[in-house]
Amino acid sequence: MGKWITAVLILAGAAGIWAAIFYIRKKLRAYSSLFFGTKNLMAAAQELNQAVEDPPRSLNACEGSVLPQVLRDFPDFDIGLVKRQVQDYLQKKLGSHPSFQIHRVVLSAYEKDSLQRTLVFQAAVSWMEEKRLQKRYDIHYTYALPQGVSAVAASCPNCGGNLGFGDLECPYCGTRVVNPLKQTWAFTHLQET
Ligand SMILES: [Zn+2]
Repeated sequence: MGKWITAVLILAGAAGIWAAIFYIRKKLRAYSSLFFGTKNLMAAAQELNQAVEDPPRSLNACEGSVLPQVLRDFPDFDIGLVKRQVQDYLQKKLGSHPSFQIHRVVLSAYEKDSLQRTLVFQAAVSWMEEKRLQKRYDIHYTYALPQGVSAVAASCPNCGGNLGFGDLECPYCGTRVVNPLKQTWAFTHLQET
């Protein structure tokens, strides 16, 4: 009788171990397909190697020299907030692929002319096709007049003098003015480089 119980216990133990192995394999496959887009962990490992061998394209990060120029024109400018807006914009434009990832966003230039100011960002992104593709994009975020508004539409509330595009104060009497022409920020350009 004792031997019979021992045999049952051994069988039950073996079945338990087999079930555990089966369960772990299934979990590993699910994990593999969730994170690497393939059910085969070896293929996923090769994929990672390829991704490492294909180095991310370098970004032209000039934040240290560009940001002070931007802050001179826009004292309240919040670079962290704007970078999050750039990420949201990229996600909206390029994020249709489920494996889309944004690796880095940098501020690389600030361009000024008489009618607008443009912040040039660069972003390193990737997504999986045959293998993981690394790509670099230029994004322009532009502060410009609303459509149909002329640059001479605003005048100083104190002396009536004409205000120019980027004036923070009246050039004639020095009165501080806030966004007299109602310029707005908008994304104007997205291109792979
Ligand atoms: Zn004035």
